[in-house]
Amino acid sequence: MNIHEHQAKEILKDFGVPVSKGIVIFSENDIAKDTKNLDTNKKYVLKAQIHAGGRGKAGGVKLVEGGKELENEAKKMFGKNLVTHQTGPEGKKVQRLYIEEASDISKEFYLSCLVDRESSKIAFISSTEGGMDIEKVAMETPSKILTKKIDFSDQGPTKSEIAEIISIFKFNENQKKIAEKLVVSLYRILIEKDANLIEINPLIITKDDKIICLDAKMNFDDNAIFRRPEILKLRDLNEEEPAEIEASKHDLAYIKLNGSIGCMVNGAGLAMATMDIIKLYGEEPANFLDVGGGATKEKVTAAFKLILADKNVKGILINIFGGIMRCDVLALGVVEAAKQVNLSVPLVVRLAGTNFKEGKEILDKSNLKILSASDLNDAAKKIVGAIK
Ligand code: ADP
Ligand code: MG
Repeated sequence: MNIHEHQAKEILKDFGVPVSKGIVIFSENDIAKDTKNLDTNKKYVLKAQIHAGGRGKAGGVKLVEGGKELENEAKKMFGKNLVTHQTGPEGKKVQRLYIEEASDISKEFYLSCLVDRESSKIAFISSTEGGMDIEKVAMETPSKILTKKIDFSDQGPTKSEIAEIISIFKFNENQKKIAEKLVVSLYRILIEKDANLIEINPLIITKDDKIICLDAKMNFDDNAIFRRPEILKLRDLNEEEPAEIEASKHDLAYIKLNGSIGCMVNGAGLAMATMDIIKLYGEEPANFLDVGGGATKEKVTAAFKLILADKNVKGILINIFGGIMRCDVLALGVVEAAKQVNLSVPLVVRLAGTNFKEGKEILDKSNLKILSASDLNDAAKKIVGAIK
């Protein structure tokens, strides 16, 4: 689960990390009321709150004088559709704004802390190239990035580990002390809030030598969120794909993609293989969907309806290997969903495993127009052929 910048900064503040003063506004009508107490002698930065980075380049971060200019620019930004390199071409609508004191920046840095699954360690990434796309820095000038992986421990990072993490910044003694505390705080937030990623980009030094976290991104482990109600409260459903919200209600692993072939598969590995083979035959999958092991008829019905609700779907490929999942249950769900929603696109079904015969019989008797397939290769070929 992702949260907004202003929420991440509240958490940082709670852990003693320096952030700028700011207020969040949820509605265009509240701009005048909420900004009237802001100090008019200062400059401000208006920041669109969307769950995506790259706002600066897309017009989602704007430096303004206080008073009327602030009010007018805030009005313009509300409701704007921001397209950044992280939103996809459809962009994201700005539905809340963060108004923050402007800082006089002397230098921008990058610091993040994340769970590194491959090594089962906690990785800190630090770089002198703050405010930039870090993936790009990693590609073009890897020497400007330092990655330090540390073992999990209740004591947190050791003195020497911390020193190594911040060494790339070349800070003076005073700055070092603040940065050391920052590293410890990020580590504590990662552990105590079950975060997967905390990214400060940029971390800045101001002209008067203060260190401030100027942008913050946090992502939390969905599997641990049940024990972090204070984090779950921060969820913003406006930022999530409606189909994915619906899927999570039914405990389905569903990710919407941009292709034209809807896929219903059991098992994440088989789902990935199914997507691969669709691509191999020249088409793109419309989604990733793993209905899971012991799916019920209701779950299968919900999954099938989700696929059909996607306007881009021109054909559906069902690929089920019945292990714990029974093919007859799958068939009942598909037939039920097809009854409820008008099925107007070609459907290819490949069933194998437990109760395969019963499943096939249900589908055969259903009057649904189904192309059956003998194996995965055949199934992919058939569905790609059918939509052409
Ligand atoms: P994003 O990463 O989505 O582009 P940031 O919050 O990192 O958004 O802002 C982009 C850039 O805008 C920063 O790198 C920084 O140069 C500038 N900026 C952001 N907030 C402030 C602020 N409070 N004062 C001055 N400059 C800012
Ligand atoms: Mg940023």
